[in-house]
Parts: sequence; C-alpha cells; structure tokens
Amino acid sequence: MTTTEAPVQNITDNEVRKAIVHYLRREDRAFRLRSKQIEHLTDNGIVRVMQAAASEIARLEALQVRAAATLSRRRGNPRSTEAELSLALSVTTRHAGAMIATAEALTSRLPDTFGLMERGRLDLARAMKVTNATAWLTDDAARGADASLALRLAGKNSTEVRKAATYAAKMADPEGAERRTRERRAARCLTLIHQDSGTATLSLDHAPAEKAAAAYARVNGMAKALKTSDEPRTLDQLRADVALDLLLSAEVGGTPPRMEGFLYLDLATYLGLNENPAELAGHGTISAALARELLAGPDTILRRIITDPLTGQVHDLGRTRYRPTAAMAEFVRVRDRECRRPGCARPAQACEIDHVTDWHHGGPTSTASLAAFCSCDHHLKDEPGWHYALAEDGTLTITTPAGLIHRSTAPPLHAPRTPQNSAHPRTSHPPQNDAA
Ligand SMILES: [Zn+2]
Repeated sequence: MTTTEAPVQNITDNEVRKAIVHYLRREDRAFRLRSKQIEHLTDNGIVRVMQAAASEIARLEALQVRAAATLSRRRGNPRSTEAELSLALSVTTRHAGAMIATAEALTSRLPDTFGLMERGRLDLARAMKVTNATAWLTDDAARGADASLALRLAGKNSTEVRKAATYAAKMADPEGAERRTRERRAARCLTLIHQDSGTATLSLDHAPAEKAAAAYARVNGMAKALKTSDEPRTLDQLRADVALDLLLSAEVGGTPPRMEGFLYLDLATYLGLNENPAELAGHGTISAALARELLAGPDTILRRIITDPLTGQVHDLGRTRYRPTAAMAEFVRVRDRECRRPGCARPAQACEIDHVTDWHHGGPTSTASLAAFCSCDHHLKDEPGWHYALAEDGTLTITTPAGLIHRSTAPPLHAPRTPQNSAHPRTSHPPQNDAA
C-alpha cells in the first residue's frame, strides 16, 4: 500500500486542527486579536477587523462545504448523511439537508461561486442565494450562469446577489423558467413552525399565486365585516382568527373538531395552586395560565396529562383505555412526548411505536423496549451503519455510521417540584398534600 492511502479515521483531532490552521494560512494570515487590542483600534481599524473576520468566516464555511460534499459523495445516502450532520452539528435535519444540497451544488456545478467562498469573498448565506436561484438549472446551464456571475458577486449584499443570480439563471435557460414555475407550484406545502410564548407560524408555501391572493382577499373581507365599532380585536387579529376558524371548522366562530394534542402540567398547577410552566408536546413550554385556559374551554382540542409534582412522572392520562396493546403504545407516547431521536421534535402522537431491540432478536414486548420515532427516524434505524439500543432506564443510544455516539433520555417531565422550588406559587401557603 502506498503512503498516501492512510484511512481518514486515523487522523487525530489535533492533526485535524493543524490542518484547519494550515488551510486558513494558505492565503492571508488569520486575524488574531485580543478584545483589549480592539479597544485601542481606530474606527477604521475596527471595521477592517470585521471585514477580515467576515473573510475568515467565509473561508471556514467553504471548508465545511467541502467536507459536507465529500461525506455525502462517499456515503451516497442523503438521509443517512443528513442525520449524521444533524446530530454532529446540533442542527435540524432540514438545515443539514439544505447544507448538503448546497455543498453538492457548490462543489460540482458552481465552481466560480465556490472559488469566491474559498478566497473569503462570499459567505455561505450569499452563496446560498446562488444555489437557490440556480437549483432548477441543468448542470451545463448552471455552469454557464456561474461563469457569468463570477465577476458580479463580490461586494454585493444578499439581495443584490439573489437578483443577479436569478437574472443569470433565466438568461442561461429561458425555456426552463416556464418549467420551473410548474415545478414550484407542484412543491406547494403547508408548514407548521413553533415559536416562543405559546404561538406558532402556519405557512402555506409555493401556493399558486392567484389562489393565495383570492384566499387572502376572502379572509380579509370577512375580517373587515367583523370589525364593527365595538369589536376590540385588530384587523390583523381578526384575519388570523377567521383563517384559523375556516381551517378548523369550515365556519367562522364554529366549534373545532376534537383532535388529540398532549398538554402536560403538574397537579398543583392544574388546580391553580402553582404557576409552573406546562408543556405542549411538539411545541415546548407554555405558561400555566394559558394551559389552564386551553383546558378549561368546553371545545378544547387538547388532552391533559397530569404529572406528579414530586417525581415528574405521569400521574393521570385524563381518560382510561382498556386494550393492553393500545395502553402500552399510549404509555410510550406519553412518556416520550416527542420522537426519541435527539433534536427531533415531531410530537409522539404522530410517531410510530417501535421495538428498539428487534422482536425477532429477543426484544420483549414491554414499554421498556418500546420507543416513539417519527417515520423518518424510524426508517433511519434500518439504514446501514445506524445502531439503536435502549437501556433499561430508558436511555436510547444511537451509533451513527461515522461512529459518533448520541444518547437520548426520556427525562422526567419536569424537575421535582416542592413548595420551595415551585415558580411563583399562587398562594403563600400551598396545601401540604399537593403531591397526592
Ligand atoms: Zn424524528
């Protein structure tokens, strides 16, 4: 065997670090300043430090792009590579997927744009404007657009880069622009994005422009009709309420059909004695007041899960189920709350319940061997090189094809709560039996 064929796995972390430093020094030296030195710089010097830092960031991003493209090509399995990077870099699977697609495009068909990144003249965010604008082009047309953009991108902000890249793409393939319109309309989708403070964004993307405009006009008209002189809601609030009413019940102000979402709160909080935050599965924490308000309505679309204030374990499922298999699956869903792959927040009620130790290989059918996985992560388990193991204490160990180990525990729903550590007790003398 020749000396150049040493397997990559044998490079130590220290050697990787040295290689990165070498990479950074290939052209300009990396800018290294202590915070005290920055204090003494002129304004001009400070701005130049920021420019130098931006340039180094762009080059490091180029390094990451090259690495992602190499791993993706080597593995030839996008789902597996996505999950590997999502776990290793603590980014969402969607983000990891975008990173890989961008890396593949930059390293294979946008050599001039990637060259600007490697020279520190274009960062990843702006390079992604080019990959997005040229995604629909054939490889040849993309190379043509890339070449025509080579001298136009440096020094441009992201809006300018997007406009230039969109123009170059259309010029490279005028007929393709028509096909792209059809493809984009075919990619229409409804997306739910959870936000802080008990809110979420519901977004309908790539909708046909004429239908989206008509739908907005209808909602807007109904909202305006409701905006009488004694209506306290703003027009924005009314439009949001009308749209949700239409989606949930097909009539404004109607009763939404009952759907199951799990809302977890401890007993004392449920009874109004404490103000501990509650947890909405798949969403995150919401305030105690909002949780009680959501549960109080006769038309609530949520199911309450009461937890024991002292142990954080499930106390009451709110309703009894008798079929043992259904009860078991329900227990696992309630215990896991969300897909068990670390970083995945798909709610457990939308997940599949799976034997972590294969039933054929001696896995018992008990809640100790069952875990909730969304369909993506359920299938990932069967991809080559992925290994899942569930310990008796419920800790899930995931070994990735690259040999990295990630652990996930179904934690208590909350830390033990005593009158002392409860946040904002509503009464100064909480009852002694609030743990019952
Ligand atoms: Zn998942």
